[in-house]
Amino acid sequence: RKYKREMNLRKKCHNELVRLKGNIRVFCRVRPVCQGEQDSAENMVSFDPEDDALLYLSNKGKLMTFELDKVFHPQATQEEVFQEVQSLVTSCIDGFNVCIFAYGQTGSGKTYTMEGVPKDPGINQRALRLLFSEVTEKAPDWDYKITVSMVEIYNETLRNLLGDNQGEKLDIKMNPDGSGQLYVPGLTNFTVKSPEDINRVFELGHMNRATACTNLNEHSSRSHALLIITVVGFNSSTGHRTQGKLNLVDLAGSERIAKSGAEGSRLREAQCINKSLSALGDVINALRSRHSHVPFRNSRLTYLLSDSLSGDSKTLMMVQISPLVSNMSESVCSLKFAQRVRTIELGNTPRRQ
Ligand code: ADP
Repeated sequence: RKYKREMNLRKKCHNELVRLKGNIRVFCRVRPVCQGEQDSAENMVSFDPEDDALLYLSNKGKLMTFELDKVFHPQATQEEVFQEVQSLVTSCIDGFNVCIFAYGQTGSGKTYTMEGVPKDPGINQRALRLLFSEVTEKAPDWDYKITVSMVEIYNETLRNLLGDNQGEKLDIKMNPDGSGQLYVPGLTNFTVKSPEDINRVFELGHMNRATACTNLNEHSSRSHALLIITVVGFNSSTGHRTQGKLNLVDLAGSERIAKSGAEGSRLREAQCINKSLSALGDVINALRSRHSHVPFRNSRLTYLLSDSLSGDSKTLMMVQISPLVSNMSESVCSLKFAQRVRTIELGNTPRRQ
């Protein structure tokens, strides 16, 4: 009974928050200047000491102001960033579907935020470890199963990163059971039963991503990497069931590729990236504006995530910014994208507080 009361209270609080703020958050993280970059970096990004939702860019003598839900300055640690997304992550134990995207040009810190570095992991590892420890604590009242899939989307094709069918191009299908759910035949669902399994997931995913390409950095900047964590819970004494999904997405680089320079396979890559990133923007806009038609099918990325982007699901866009002057125009583009995602275009949805 206590659990039920707590659940009801949590849902009520969540619904109230959604009513007030909408269920799409946009954060921005500015990466630090890396070694060797000092020359080209100037103080073009500044922060508001009083308001952590504001970011200023000085561009050709003009000061531009961007308002987001939260801005992380370059000194923000992986731990600090994770603290801000933690409640979103654990809400999938209560049955919510959540998407966290890292968006930005190549080199802006997307992979650092999501994957992290070996001695300082990012959101992906922290999220899976936290979920595992939280559900372990709920035993024996609740019995949870955590499964993990890792997918790469490159040129509108899906690749399984946790299995041995690397060469196979996977497709998204409608489940024949009539449930209306999508599934991907051939995609591994790895069941996590111990902390060692978590290490195995990341080792395997990393290894498989690296082996199939000659230049991992180049390849990963042109493909989307998705970590999909499903949490299914069952309470045998009350008969309650929950199912939530957490999608952690390291998007392909958002930089505009010079039309004149790109041809052949580079051109095709650029077209695929543009298509899926703009499809993602369109889907989020349609959801925010409560459009009756949401164009999920316009890209593999949005189609695969359609069940986690609609309904009462929660979305967080982490827009990554490079602090360099040479990246200024791309930073402005990314922040404009962030503002588009964040502001309501149509309809009478309540104003974000
Ligand atoms: P992207 O995935 O957007 O292409 P990366 O995550 O690879 O960018 O980041 C580019 C470089 O900057 C990497 O060397 C990365 O380690 C470093 N970097 C990015 N963000 C941070 C940060 N917050 N702290 C320290 N180094 C960072």
